Amino acid sequence: MGRVAYTAMSSQQLDVLIVGAGFGGIGTAIQLKKLGYENLLIVDREDDLGGTWHVNRYPGLACDVPSNTYSYRFEPYPYWSRLYAPGAEIKQYAEYVADKYDVRRHMRFGISVTGACWNEDAERWEVALADGGTLTTRFLIAATGVLSQPYYPDIPGIDQFAGRIIHTTAWDDDYGMGGRRVALIGTGATAVQLIPELAKNVAELTVYQRTPIHVLPKSDFAVPGFVRRAFARLPMAQRVMRSMTDATYEVGFVLAVLKYQRFWWVNSLAERTSQLLRFMSIRDKKLRRQLTPAYTLGCKRPTFSNTYYSTFAKSNVALQTSGIDRIEPDGIVARDGTKASIDTLVLATGFDMWEKNIPAIEIIGRDGVNLGKLWRSNGFRAYEGMATPGFPNLLNLNSAYAVSLNFFDMIDYQMRHMERLFAEVRRRHATRFEPTEEATDRFCARFGDLQRNTVFYLGECANSRSYYFAPDGETYVRATSTRDSVLSQSQFPLSDYALSGSDIVSV
Ligand code: NAP
Repeated sequence: MGRVAYTAMSSQQLDVLIVGAGFGGIGTAIQLKKLGYENLLIVDREDDLGGTWHVNRYPGLACDVPSNTYSYRFEPYPYWSRLYAPGAEIKQYAEYVADKYDVRRHMRFGISVTGACWNEDAERWEVALADGGTLTTRFLIAATGVLSQPYYPDIPGIDQFAGRIIHTTAWDDDYGMGGRRVALIGTGATAVQLIPELAKNVAELTVYQRTPIHVLPKSDFAVPGFVRRAFARLPMAQRVMRSMTDATYEVGFVLAVLKYQRFWWVNSLAERTSQLLRFMSIRDKKLRRQLTPAYTLGCKRPTFSNTYYSTFAKSNVALQTSGIDRIEPDGIVARDGTKASIDTLVLATGFDMWEKNIPAIEIIGRDGVNLGKLWRSNGFRAYEGMATPGFPNLLNLNSAYAVSLNFFDMIDYQMRHMERLFAEVRRRHATRFEPTEEATDRFCARFGDLQRNTVFYLGECANSRSYYFAPDGETYVRATSTRDSVLSQSQFPLSDYALSGSDIVSV
């Protein structure tokens, strides 16, 4: 869909504007269309749908959550080629769902939202676009994602580098890596997938590690054709499979993260497993030590790979752990004085999870209050991880206490929340909703308390440099089981929202 079609729609008064055409935006549109909202627009700054799975295309990209679990509960996909599907397949899944539920025709691409301002008189959001245009909408849903603002490190000299710099979110398929001298900064989940692939082609690869990461074995396998055909014919069979992968994943999260105080030995066991993997992959003791994290497994997101550690034993791969002093036009100088001469710099430096992302756009609510500034001065408060007092008719899907272990579980329970909220809005002919201060306080107090039992507070996390910790030092992970989240999102008291409108039906 092009700009012409968008311009035609921009004069409309929208009922719903969804910012982001990733899985969050697609799920939101499906839910709201089900409730009868058809005057709905989804905008995305990229040129296609799929969010992170459209943007990320680096070699080795795959999901490290089993694909049966990493998919909408209401739309199982029988065609996954592996237990952990490659990234391109997940993007195909996004397209499949968008087409099946007829949401693609609501999407417009290449549109960047810069801000939104609540108009109290009109009871609408006025939304500013980067090209100078505006949109107005009754309801605004920010489905801008968790991993959507690439982080570019501010390293002395980086602007003077004469070679090619590639961030992993902007992979250039036409740039051949074969025979190149490459430096890669970062050792997060992205680097763990990319490093073994890069090492196959490049002449030299120097990896700059600041904080080692716990890597666990990945028991991946191709799904045989007959199993896929069986899943297509017998969806129940796939649901059984999903319940197993869900349960494994959930048990790990509940024991190792939420109930760390009692089950700390689960984390220790996993650390031992990672240690064993290092031992079996690398003979060099010093190298093993350098790759060994000095924080409890779980403080930072662990990763899964059978080839990451062994890649460091290759002759064309070097690990640099002394830190980066500066970047020169033809290389990187480390703090220990050694210089790696390179022609390509890969930034596997991840995402800005907080400063530019919560919220991802400037949002000005009632009485001119700026949401980002409010959260930074008063704490990241939100009701059920989605709505904030003072910001009527707004759901920000990436708010405090929204995110749990599995992104798709989060979408699932957020869709249930929308179902309950918007059904009530419709039933009572409301034109406005806003969570109450009391409900938000109660919710945040409960989840603030739950944090205290997690590995984030009881484990040794000081050296982890984990993005789970906000700039205020707190964590805002949704620290309950998925079952608890589903129940609370689908049964929250409707009185937790104040609804209003000129034709409102009284309760
Ligand atoms: P990340 O986990 O934030 O890792 C970024 C890396 O860059 C870290 O090792 C960080 O070091 C390093 N770094 C940043 N600035 C640096 C600097 N100035 N100097 C040296 N090192 C620097 O980002 P990511 O690897 O892209 O992963 C982000 C998230 O994406 C993951 O946690 C995961 O949730 C998701 N992901 C998922 C999959 C999947 O299969 N489902 C795959 C890839 C990514 P420090 O640790 O010291 O800060």
